[in-house]
Amino acid sequence: MKLTKKLILGEIIFFLLLMGGVFFAVFTFVLPEIRAIERQGHLKNLAKIEHAFQNELERIKIATIDWGEWDDTYEYVVKPSRDYEESNLLVDSIEDLKVDLLIILNRDHQVISKLHTEKMGSLERINLLKGQNWSHSHPLLQYFSDNDSAIFFTEKGPLLLARHPILTSQSTGPANGYLFFARLLDNEFTEHVSSSLELGFTASLVDKTTLQPSVEFINDDLSHAVGYQQLANSVDKVIQLDIEQPRPFYHQAMNATKISLLAVFIIGLMACFATYFMLKKILVNPIILLQKQAELFTKSEGKPAFSVLQRDDEIGALSTSFAEMAKELSNDFNRLEQERDELENASHTDALTNLKNRRYLEELMHSEDTWKAKGDWTIFTLDLDHFKKVNDSYGHDVGDVVLQQFSKVITQNFREQDIVVRSGGEEFTVICRQTDQQTANSIAERLRLATEMKTFGKDNNLRITCSIGFFTMNIMSAEAGLKYWQSMIKVSDLALYAAKHNGRNTWVGLNCLMGCEHGTYPKELPDIGTWIKERKLQLSSPKANPEEMIWSA
Ligand code: GH3
Ligand code: MG
Ligand code: MG
Repeated sequence: MKLTKKLILGEIIFFLLLMGGVFFAVFTFVLPEIRAIERQGHLKNLAKIEHAFQNELERIKIATIDWGEWDDTYEYVVKPSRDYEESNLLVDSIEDLKVDLLIILNRDHQVISKLHTEKMGSLERINLLKGQNWSHSHPLLQYFSDNDSAIFFTEKGPLLLARHPILTSQSTGPANGYLFFARLLDNEFTEHVSSSLELGFTASLVDKTTLQPSVEFINDDLSHAVGYQQLANSVDKVIQLDIEQPRPFYHQAMNATKISLLAVFIIGLMACFATYFMLKKILVNPIILLQKQAELFTKSEGKPAFSVLQRDDEIGALSTSFAEMAKELSNDFNRLEQERDELENASHTDALTNLKNRRYLEELMHSEDTWKAKGDWTIFTLDLDHFKKVNDSYGHDVGDVVLQQFSKVITQNFREQDIVVRSGGEEFTVICRQTDQQTANSIAERLRLATEMKTFGKDNNLRITCSIGFFTMNIMSAEAGLKYWQSMIKVSDLALYAAKHNGRNTWVGLNCLMGCEHGTYPKELPDIGTWIKERKLQLSSPKANPEEMIWSA
């Protein structure tokens, strides 16, 4: 996978992990925390309502103390009087006290006064309150310890009820009986508590199930909390308090969370893009550049293609190292190439004459590129006459000098593009492109004459001649050249032998009259004499007498 793709993949993984982490944190820590705060709020509200109930019980209790420790009441219980009743025991009086019920018991637990508001209806229908003589086991006598208050169940509804013994105003006894005040826990009361606490709730009697207050989140907009109030005289019923409230805090927190998530998303995305472009610019692009330069360097065959990245960091240092390494390699490469060229040149060059050697000739002839030039090709074979005698008479050294001088004569009489090869001993081969038989005739004669006229040897006191054979052929394809070049050299050799047999210091040329393309030219040596007769070959020589020519080595 390419570096850029890996970088993009890394950025995507980073972004997904970031968003995943944020969502995980929000749903694992933030939202539960918000719910816990909401739950605490609900429990506080339930506690406030409970507190309001307790306050109301306390208020009623204070009223019972106020009235119960009053000498007038104390006397009234012993000796009921109209005065007391007319001035105190009035519905208006208890309404002013915000209670719905007043009961006065004497020492014998006889109800001597019962007063209630209209809301209470008939007290005879309420089990807890009916009857005039209360036994010792009456719940309102049994339940209380002195100065206490509690909520009681009645058929009319729960009663917030307080009792106090009737004492003198100095709180001394003996107690002359009991005074009860009670307030009906009705809608009016709950609305009053609701408005004073600014908290909406309902209170209802339910069968006792669980007494654990619980909070439930109905949906994103609404939550529900349930609390309980015990009833002093009931084992199976309780007052259930229900608070149903909107969830503004949750809404705010959710909105803030959504905005935060959006912000993290946008910032995360921007951070990913920023880091992507930064890393791409700082790391990936230079690495790609280095890699491309290295690739170019590999293809450039040693030419230093490294441009140094101008940076003061490790990549800059790496680039400098690469460039230095490339320069070193390039120098090595060039040196090796030069050495190779020199070696190749040496292996293709004849040390004595500085001409190309036979190995070069063969490599050249085997190469398809050589045969791209179509047209007449002439191959000359040159040989010094009686050269052995030079060696024998003047020594090998002089022979060598003669060979060097003769090679100069050859090169001077051929074109620069002609390939002159010392093919062995005192024998030379010259390959000429675009050279027809007629041109070859004049070259051969020119060379023969130049040799004849030249003086050879260290002291330029020797005369020597040469014999020349050549063969001309029209080559129309590289394929033909590759196929026939060996045969062409052999025919050229045969022409040389014919020149030797014809008295030396002469030349013999053969021209292939039938195009080699016809496929009739044999790859192996043709029978020269027969072919000349059949006019497949055209002979040319200053001393040409085909009948006398000997065509073998
Ligand atoms: P021909 O006219 O038939 O060619 O007679 P020739 O003497 O030239 O031919 P031959 O093949 O009998 O002798 C060739 C001689 O060339 C033999 C050898 O000693 C000599 N020769 C070959 N290579 C070298 C060389 O590098 N230096 C010297 N000095 N002589 C060489
Ligand atoms: Mg010779
Ligand atoms: Mg020879």
